[in-house]
Amino acid sequence: MSSALDSSKLKITKTTAPKTKLPNDQLVFGQSFTDHMLTIEWTAESGWGTPEIKPYGNLSLDPSSCVFHYAFELFEGLKAYKDSKGKIRMFRPDMNMKRMNKSAARICLPTFDSEELIKLIGELLKIDGAFIPQERGYSLYIRPTMIGTTAGLGVGTPDRALLFVICSPVGPYYKTGFKAVRLEATDYATRAWPGGVGDKKLGANYAPCIKPQLEAASRGYQQNLWLFGPEKNVTEVGTMNFFVVFQDKATGKKELVTAPLDGTILEGVTRDSILSLARERLDPSEWDVNERYCTITEIASKAESGELVEAFGAGTAAVVSPIKEIGYNGTAINVPLLPGEQSGPLTKQIADWIAELQYGVVESEWSRVV
Ligand code: PMP
Repeated sequence: MSSALDSSKLKITKTTAPKTKLPNDQLVFGQSFTDHMLTIEWTAESGWGTPEIKPYGNLSLDPSSCVFHYAFELFEGLKAYKDSKGKIRMFRPDMNMKRMNKSAARICLPTFDSEELIKLIGELLKIDGAFIPQERGYSLYIRPTMIGTTAGLGVGTPDRALLFVICSPVGPYYKTGFKAVRLEATDYATRAWPGGVGDKKLGANYAPCIKPQLEAASRGYQQNLWLFGPEKNVTEVGTMNFFVVFQDKATGKKELVTAPLDGTILEGVTRDSILSLARERLDPSEWDVNERYCTITEIASKAESGELVEAFGAGTAAVVSPIKEIGYNGTAINVPLLPGEQSGPLTKQIADWIAELQYGVVESEWSRVV
């Protein structure tokens, strides 16, 4: 019989060599990890095995394992925060589990009960809780991962898999307040396409994006703004969803725009949070909130007419990342910023709204106490 993932079977082996914790100012994203990790093996014959929390350490895998040859790998990224009372809170973990199951199903890796994995991650967070800095802006980045471990070079459905979760304490993305970035609109390389897997969080989507990023960097840009199709629709920015704010000259009405989830866009949890908060809290007589296609030409012409107001990327790592310039076809599209400012008012407002929920300053069902 094939077993379902069962958190009550959890086996815990604590480390005998606890790590020295780094001071907050030395934390570099994804460079240091907590004392423990969660691992769960799966086989086609028996289903999900015993979940184990054990000392963080190397994995041992047969070099013919399908993950190394055919990219049977998917991952997630979410964060846990410590509130002012020292309670540990995960932000919208159900959304990440849902997305993880969709990624798994797409590459024939096993799916699982989301709530069971959330409970197990909660146990890992309790054990490694001392690694979560309490200071505002700091958090614990959680990286659930699943790989196919079937040994052998035949291309087929994996009959073995390993789900593991590792955690890295992280500081604020922008240590000294926001720093607006410059993007290069990229149309010679495509991040995702219709019928592809750009809406899934597969490792295979990420490696091919580094070369275009290096090329953009060589021309002085921090990230790619990924365009798609002959219309040159704006899709995403680097590894974030893209938002832009326009203001109609004639009516004064503002519009918050992001690309629709058409299969080429990663279904960002931050994107979803921003859309929900914007629809709930922005005055509809002043604002439209739209999921629609927006071309680079529309952005360029609205910049020209003074109707481009703000632009930012949105994702778990930075939450929001303001954009000050987009390089396109040798010209610069400038996003207006007040002197001395690194972001517009909506970008800041959204960062504050989300931080209040993440740190439990404002209670909500999005913030799950462990
Ligand atoms: N787009 C891509 C391609 C990403 O890798 C990410 C990071 N997961 C995002 C958008 C933002 O998603 P989230 O808000 O869930 O972090």
